[in-house]
Amino acid sequence: MRINRLVAYAAVAVLALGVSACGGDDDGGDGGDVSTDKTFAAGSTMQKLKDAKKIKVGTKFDQPGFGLKGLDGKPAGFDVEIAKIIANELGLTNDQVEFSESPSAVREQVIEQGTVDIVVATYTINDTRKQRISFAGPYYEAGQTIMVRNNESDITGPDSFKTTNKKVCSVTNSTPANNIKKYLSNEGQQLVLFDTYQKCVDALTGNQVDAVTTDNVILLGFISKNEGKFKLAGDTFTKEPYGVGLKKDDTDFRNFINDTLEKANQDGRYKKAWDSTAGKIPNAKLPAMPTINRY
Ligand code: GLU
Repeated sequence: MRINRLVAYAAVAVLALGVSACGGDDDGGDGGDVSTDKTFAAGSTMQKLKDAKKIKVGTKFDQPGFGLKGLDGKPAGFDVEIAKIIANELGLTNDQVEFSESPSAVREQVIEQGTVDIVVATYTINDTRKQRISFAGPYYEAGQTIMVRNNESDITGPDSFKTTNKKVCSVTNSTPANNIKKYLSNEGQQLVLFDTYQKCVDALTGNQVDAVTTDNVILLGFISKNEGKFKLAGDTFTKEPYGVGLKKDDTDFRNFINDTLEKANQDGRYKKAWDSTAGKIPNAKLPAMPTINRY
């Protein structure tokens, strides 16, 4: 009887431990590594967000490893974790981050309109975009490449589109959609654009296009999610430094995010974020975090 009771106590203790372990930030739980002692200048974006107890973040919902909406309705991935690190540094919990989908073409617009406070969405830093918004980072450097069906042998790199009529799919207003144009012999016929990469992947599966082009890490995510169906054709042929998009010329907020990225890189949160998300994708590599560009 007494032993039974002890066993029962032990079982309850083990259960309790299990439950508290589930509440950690690894599984997207409520907390995160929250900095509660922070104070910010009155009127700063940081203080406003802290007071609002909420940060609105635009991310991708269809990109395995970076931002993929789960069955629970919550997005998961490296970009999602980067957003949570920024929120935690503002004194906000993971639950106080409000994610919405921001496909490539609307990213500048949702920042300008204030629909979101930041965009963390495989977002390449470039001068054209800098005319409308500002970027913190980079926090990662990807590169554009091409994905084809496993049985494809005619496409071996971007130059293959000059000598064939093969069709390639990408996303409206993405840098890869723009970069691939110079390799096409007939842009009107060869370039197919959708608003999300999942639609390109569906078109590749359905033989409506012969290739999908975007950043290597995005394509590796689709390759791993669709085992045996797709492969990369050739190496990367651009550099895509990922930044955190924010309102143009909000320099204090940009500095704060840059400081946060550097701190997270030093204290291990950056690597942990990678290892628990995109780091699980075969062949996805995390070189050292790029040097922050404090322009
Ligand atoms: N990094 C590229 C871009 O920002 C491609 C990925 C994407 O469309 O999100 O346009």
